Amino acid sequence: MHLLVDTPPDFREQALAYRLPRVDAVFFTHSHADHIFGFDDIRRYNTMQRQVIPAYAGEGTLQDLRRVFDYISTESQPGFYRPQIDFRLLEGPVRIGEVTVEALPVIHGPSPTCGFLFSCGAVRFAYVPDCKSMPDATLERIRGVDVMVLDALRHRPHATHMTLAESLACLERIGAARSYLVHMCHDLAHTGLEAAIPAGVHVAYDGLVVSLPA
Ligand SMILES: [Zn+2]
Ligand SMILES: [Zn+2]
Repeated sequence: MHLLVDTPPDFREQALAYRLPRVDAVFFTHSHADHIFGFDDIRRYNTMQRQVIPAYAGEGTLQDLRRVFDYISTESQPGFYRPQIDFRLLEGPVRIGEVTVEALPVIHGPSPTCGFLFSCGAVRFAYVPDCKSMPDATLERIRGVDVMVLDALRHRPHATHMTLAESLACLERIGAARSYLVHMCHDLAHTGLEAAIPAGVHVAYDGLVVSLPA
């Protein structure tokens, strides 16, 4: 089972570098360019898997995807090589194989944005890459997850992303067994940051593999 969250502009390079063998479904957090501009490369997986691939998102994000990638839903000349996508509105929890996926609404500027909670039995993994603040209702749903991944852009305040301090404060409230920071900009150096943050919180990196409890 391979569930993909977002298709950034470097999706193709990442898929090749880390040998992503298939994509069973794509889940979109929001429609900012750094999260969707690799969407077209899904078409290679259509070819390899010989199937239409479902893409789940909230209403506003779905609208943006259909607009930006309008050719996906438009019949044009025969043989036109476009992604074969089944766009699906993510409302309640979705079950894919043994994994249940739920949207986690967060505040990230004016764009409707969510993270995702992945559950398999009692094991829970939450991924929230773009977030300025987390509503209490969302925080309650992910309290004590096994693994939490959260936005931590930089030290200086930003209008739509958490600073490191805001992220660490939010992580303390969530109380995950293990946490990872993502979406850092180049203001933050990996080695120094890893040494400076609390035990149980780590700095994510390209190619990171996170194992969950059995
Ligand atoms: Zn964003
Ligand atoms: Zn982003």
